[in-house]
Amino acid sequence: MYDLKDSRWLKNVRRPGDRKQPRVVLTFDDGPSHLLKPILDVLQEENVPAVFFWQTRLVYKQRLWQRALQEGHYLGSHTHSHKNLTKLTRDEQYKQIKTSVDQLRDVTGRDVCFFRPPFGQYNETTMQLLNDLHLTPVMWEISGLDWEHKQDPARIVKNVTEHMRDGSIILLHELEQTLSILPRLIDEVRTKGFAFTNLNRKASP
Ligand SMILES: [Zn+2]
Repeated sequence: MYDLKDSRWLKNVRRPGDRKQPRVVLTFDDGPSHLLKPILDVLQEENVPAVFFWQTRLVYKQRLWQRALQEGHYLGSHTHSHKNLTKLTRDEQYKQIKTSVDQLRDVTGRDVCFFRPPFGQYNETTMQLLNDLHLTPVMWEISGLDWEHKQDPARIVKNVTEHMRDGSIILLHELEQTLSILPRLIDEVRTKGFAFTNLNRKASP
């Protein structure tokens, strides 16, 4: 197994020579959902960039992809239909990944450069395919575990702010409970002296 918790993906965040303030990156998986608009509203209000890893079976022309791009966010692939890639053959994996990047490119007119595997599950075949397709895998260092805290969304804020370090990539989802604490999460991250940044598109795996 590859360990993506190494410099291979952290270098997408860390920028040598620009270390005045620790930075973190927000990422939202599993959209685009009906909550994309209010999430974009909060991010715009707070001036925070993010990466959205979308399942392209949910991507339609009328989704707010244009607004997301205009407001400085990145769109990444989270496969076409969110299958566990490690349970698929090479051809099936290829189809899940290729279909999704083609569809994102068709809709947005832009190339996709970032990829996140569903459930964080990948194998050597996945890594070869990502390399062939010029996609940078992006895992995460901190999970808000937001899908587990529908009843107690304050836990999401704690999960993030108690564990973040400079360069941490934070995993969230386009969920109601996540939206409900997003302004507070952003405030607390900043109160702890961290700034928000986005992935470095120039870096490649
Ligand atoms: Zn997912």
